[in-house]
Amino acid sequence: KSDDNFSKKNRPNVSFKDVAGLEEVKEEMQEIIDFINDSEKFHKMGAKIPNGILFHGPPGTGKTLLAKAVAGETNSTFLYSSGSEFVEKYVGVGAKRIRGLFEKARKDSPTIIFIDEIDAIGCKRNMDSNNEKDQTLNQLLVEMDGFSDKSTVIIIGATNRLDLLDEALLRPGRFDRHIYIGNPNLKAREDIFNVHIKNKPIDKSVNIGDLSRKTHGFTGAQLASIANEAAIIAVRNKKKKIDNIDFNAAIERVVAGLEVKHPTVL
Ligand code: ATP
Repeated sequence: KSDDNFSKKNRPNVSFKDVAGLEEVKEEMQEIIDFINDSEKFHKMGAKIPNGILFHGPPGTGKTLLAKAVAGETNSTFLYSSGSEFVEKYVGVGAKRIRGLFEKARKDSPTIIFIDEIDAIGCKRNMDSNNEKDQTLNQLLVEMDGFSDKSTVIIIGATNRLDLLDEALLRPGRFDRHIYIGNPNLKAREDIFNVHIKNKPIDKSVNIGDLSRKTHGFTGAQLASIANEAAIIAVRNKKKKIDNIDFNAAIERVVAGLEVKHPTVL
């Protein structure tokens, strides 16, 4: 995930139009974008922009994509990492990595730091605050408190377990904005399909409205995967365009994949 969609070094060429649905969320993120693009105006008014934003909700709903789009819209550096990369056996290693990440972010500012699965480092601390994990979390708190006006660094964390996070992380000045990103509704599923068929030859037998109705409960990632599978199936069937039969076969294939992974869910 960390190195796709990049034009220049660490600058994603993803924009808001690649993120379908999530209109309210995009509106909220527009404020952050305006700040990065015109920080002087906000500083003059004495406004301090939130440094930490937390995306929470089920996997595959576009959290990473949206964070990349914020970087793309502001021509910011995008630094991707996953919470599990900081979980180490030896004391101090995770904390050192956090320090390194923020150093790089400040150097290449404006920067969006994205930490997926932030619960891996941000889960509630033990009473004796001395183990490796607690040191890593403490370092993250120190870095967030040390944000200055000189460089624009915004950190976006993602989790599907908001309830696991240590309260210290959620305090004002840290991750104080929480944005829920859920599964797409009918209209959003249509929009997501439209984004993912944009550059594909589509036969007129395909009805995106029907496909969207059939895919209730699917995530954005699954819909993207259906569009891709349909294209693969069309090639295999030696067709010039992707038709309705290919899409239905693709839905079946994605559902079958889910049944293998989560036999009790479906
Ligand atoms: P995870 O929690 O598993 O990291 P996530 O919420 O970060 O998941 P993404 O990695 O952003 O999900 O989504 C995976 C892929 O699914 C995206 O790269 C994109 O192709 C597609 N996708 C998901 N949501 C959307 C959306 N709202 N619009 C367009 N494409 C989407």
